[in-house]
Amino acid sequence: RLFRGAASKGAAATTDLPGILRACADGLAGSRTEIGAPARPFGDPLTPIAFEAALAVLALSLLRDHTVARLRICPNCTWLFVDRSRNSSRLWCDMAVCGNRQKASRHYRRRRMAENEVRNA
Ligand SMILES: [Zn+2]
Repeated sequence: RLFRGAASKGAAATTDLPGILRACADGLAGSRTEIGAPARPFGDPLTPIAFEAALAVLALSLLRDHTVARLRICPNCTWLFVDRSRNSSRLWCDMAVCGNRQKASRHYRRRRMAENEVRNA
């Protein structure tokens, strides 16, 4: 709810924060890992951390101002994604999947319309 609301409005609602902060605290509870050290960059497969802790750190990282403003909802599959394009104009979660499906369906519709125009002429 927090991230979908942020994607729709471009800002995170503080009323939606307690739930995710509690979930992140639960995910980090019991974790004895250090993150952010130069020799151990977050996400390095050579220094894995617990899944729940990694999920909490990633969720919290999405709350940064510049990231919240770039949260989008894919119009094809409705997944959330972070638009990291230079001009912030990405439409699809993944061009190779949702973008191509939309292009293919648009192409199919245009071809059908053209065929119908030829038949009706
Ligand atoms: Zn998609």
